[in-house]
Amino acid sequence: MQVATEQGCLVADAVSVSYGTGANRVDALRGVSLAFKPGSFVALRGPSGSGKTSLLHCLGGLIPPTGGEVRWDGQTLSAFQLQRRDGRGAMAFAYLFQGGNLLPTFTAAENVAFAAYVAGRLDRPDPLATLDRVGLSHKGGALPDALSGGEQQRVALARAVAQGARVLLADEPTGQLDSGTARSVLTLIDDLRRENPQLIVVLATHDASVAERAGLVVEMADGRAHLTGSA
Ligand code: ADP
Ligand code: MG
Repeated sequence: MQVATEQGCLVADAVSVSYGTGANRVDALRGVSLAFKPGSFVALRGPSGSGKTSLLHCLGGLIPPTGGEVRWDGQTLSAFQLQRRDGRGAMAFAYLFQGGNLLPTFTAAENVAFAAYVAGRLDRPDPLATLDRVGLSHKGGALPDALSGGEQQRVALARAVAQGARVLLADEPTGQLDSGTARSVLTLIDDLRRENPQLIVVLATHDASVAERAGLVVEMADGRAHLTGSA
């Protein structure tokens, strides 16, 4: 019903997330409604425990909301659909989460090549050339274990490039990096946005200077979202 108006949009519609039951229940999100338009770069800012990671997980179809829904391209997103829908399916989303989410038994180059393959890229981009863009072509043969946290994140970014992601979800991507590496990750995100002006980037951060680079800042507090800034 909303397909026309929500084309290319990622929408959280009254999303709530609770963990546990009874006395152990934690309400991590309490009715969050946000619309991410194609090309938007949005920072989620807020203290630890405010719900940033829960929101990113919901937006990426990694956990189902307890209430409300997430829509992508006008269709309700569920983990099941995300896996099944080709083209706009799983590979439309790239995750830049702590640890990089790399396949541990595959080398850096294989992780990048695998993403291009699963995304159905027929042009078979050279994984080493893609790794070169993040300054890591010399680490193509390394297993994730042998890479630093910052290097793993850069491989995850190369993977996002290889798969032609339409949505990049990043959870405190600069949190554990020195300032130089953090800047290069942010520069790469800028490059990705320039190459694909439709790319949606949602980035959780504690860091005001990182949030400043986003067009829109969402302040998270106690499971609720408040908009500041302008798109
Ligand atoms: P943030 O990323 O802003 O730190 P989170 O989304 O991780 O926030 O957490 C929001 C709230 O949900 C916190 O109170 C946290 O302790 C709780 N929480 C997060 N994940 C779980 C989980 N898997 N089980 C139980 N509680 C959780
Ligand atoms: Mg978090």
